[in-house]
Amino acid sequence: MEKLLLSDLKHLLQQPKAIGIVPHKNPDGDAIGATLGLYHYLKKLGHKVTVIAPNDYPDFLKWVPGEETIVKYDTEKEKATALIHEAALLFTLDFNHLSRVGGDMQNVLEKISATFVMIDHHQQPDTYAAYTYSDVGMSSTCQMVYHFLERLEAIDSIDPTIATCLYLGIMTDTGSFRFRSTTSTTHRVLADLIDRGADNTTIHEKVYDANSFSRLQLMGVALRNLHVLPEYKVAYITISQKELYDHDFKKGDTEGFVNYGLSIKGVVFALIFIENEQEKIIKISLRSKGAFSVNEFSRNHFEGGGHHNAAGGKSDLSLSATVDKFISILPSYKKELNT
Ligand code: 5GP
Ligand code: MN
Repeated sequence: MEKLLLSDLKHLLQQPKAIGIVPHKNPDGDAIGATLGLYHYLKKLGHKVTVIAPNDYPDFLKWVPGEETIVKYDTEKEKATALIHEAALLFTLDFNHLSRVGGDMQNVLEKISATFVMIDHHQQPDTYAAYTYSDVGMSSTCQMVYHFLERLEAIDSIDPTIATCLYLGIMTDTGSFRFRSTTSTTHRVLADLIDRGADNTTIHEKVYDANSFSRLQLMGVALRNLHVLPEYKVAYITISQKELYDHDFKKGDTEGFVNYGLSIKGVVFALIFIENEQEKIIKISLRSKGAFSVNEFSRNHFEGGGHHNAAGGKSDLSLSATVDKFISILPSYKKELNT
């Protein structure tokens, strides 16, 4: 595949085109913020742009400007497929391997002849894109979209709508500006986004003060199911499908639960195991502090990956067998977890 320079890409963007923008499956705040931030910018340039998501996203993101235009592949397959085929340029944001969009849609993306552009901050990027902007040190893909606009000399195109989208993803991916990836540059970008019209307090409220009563009850269940293994500095939570049903579970309700394990003094490695009967998997979220790489751990044992301190994975075993497997692996990491 022919690789593009930034100047080639700039040239391509000068003529109106059909453009698709794709986030990863189960898009989070960063994926939605980055895709919609870029969407609004490319619309301004006169392109025909559509964000095509593999599937739905949580209700606490259903206010982001432009989200009502997102086409979801799993429920609008024909429309989504047609849009993907029509696209001359296809941006993939907040992921770096086509497997991250999930089964069917991956096959469609692998067969098209569109020019791919990747903007992403996860580890070990694949090489499918003609233009790759990958930086694993970045706080978020939203911060990268900001820098991408800088590279395009388009920073002044950032209006309140774009600023809102980009602020959102930086906020959610940095755990509200606390993770190690939050740099002084991140704060300068945030300050500029506020100056350009992002209403920071409102964005925080829309995302973090959107709890339902049942979600808080489910959090209570998660906290009761929290186990600590002090000899490994590990904490983990389990949630069964029944516990989800009993609390009127909606997509996104378990987001952030894993961080409670990591908030225990001395814990450096926290996980949550969530049973998903429909997909017949246990979905795992992994978080760490310091040197321990959950990206490596998940790649090696749970078919996943992500970042050094935040990763995802899955297991085809039952919930209890998955936890047993996890506990049986721990002794070989005892030294690493205790240094
Ligand atoms: P979460 O635990 O919040 O679902 O995901 C944590 C991080 O790991 C996110 O950046 C997410 O994109 C990434 N991630 C989640 N699940 C997977 C997975 O199955 N494979 C890979 N490679 N990354 C994942
Ligand atoms: Mn991200």
